[in-house]
Amino acid sequence: MASENKLSKRISFVAGNWKMNKTLREAKELATEVVRAASSLLGAEIVLCPPFTALSEVAKTIEGSSVQLAGQDVFWEEKGAFTGEISGLMLKDVGCQYVIVGHSERRQILGEDDLMINRKLKAALRQQIFPILCIGETLEERDSGKTLQRIESQLKQDLNGLNKTEISQVVVAYEPVWAIGTGRNATPSQAQEVHQFIRQILGQSYGQELASCAIIIYGGSVKPENAYSLMAEPDIDGFLVGGASLEAKSFIKIIEQALRAKKEKE
Ligand code: PEP
Repeated sequence: MASENKLSKRISFVAGNWKMNKTLREAKELATEVVRAASSLLGAEIVLCPPFTALSEVAKTIEGSSVQLAGQDVFWEEKGAFTGEISGLMLKDVGCQYVIVGHSERRQILGEDDLMINRKLKAALRQQIFPILCIGETLEERDSGKTLQRIESQLKQDLNGLNKTEISQVVVAYEPVWAIGTGRNATPSQAQEVHQFIRQILGQSYGQELASCAIIIYGGSVKPENAYSLMAEPDIDGFLVGGASLEAKSFIKIIEQALRAKKEKE
């Protein structure tokens, strides 16, 4: 639970974002395989983010294991006439400990802006759900040298009005938009530059103690082949994995690589 503040140290963190994939049967099969592997993947926080329709099924499948459940989005109101939306209260009720907020697909396809994302973060925290806040630049922004400016602007707007305790409960996911679902990942040094910058902004705004414990993960075409070199960077604490989380084998390999790299950099 967020109130226990289990995010007070930089644990290795790997979340699988299944997006709009998996029927109930498929979701159960995949979660079962992840649970089976999880008992030998000690030291990693493993999070599954199924579609809303499969949350309940996956919650049952992971019960009693170390695997955690996340929603892919949350609405800012608790209940009422908001057709199609899902509240933090409902996510908590089904067993979610985390929720993805501000994924670039929602920003780009569904027009979510930073004000909406800020309200969603607050809604999740009200229910003691840890938000996984996604930020990242477009290719155009990167090519015109505006990456860090964009990251700082998103971070400050999205976290606006949150107190230090709340911010310490947010996992930040750096996801360059040009690397999501494209097969083109950021190089370890490109990712490290931004992760270090995010930690620096958090430090300047909320203090070094918070920044040094913040969990900052990378997302964008993470695969078993590139997970080790990305995780070897000092400011990368794990991954938000899309495509490669749809198969147990590749998702588990990514977690293994993350743990190997983490051990070597300690
Ligand atoms: C994502 O959806 O957050 C993501 C990073 O996707 P992919 O790994 O497929 O690029």
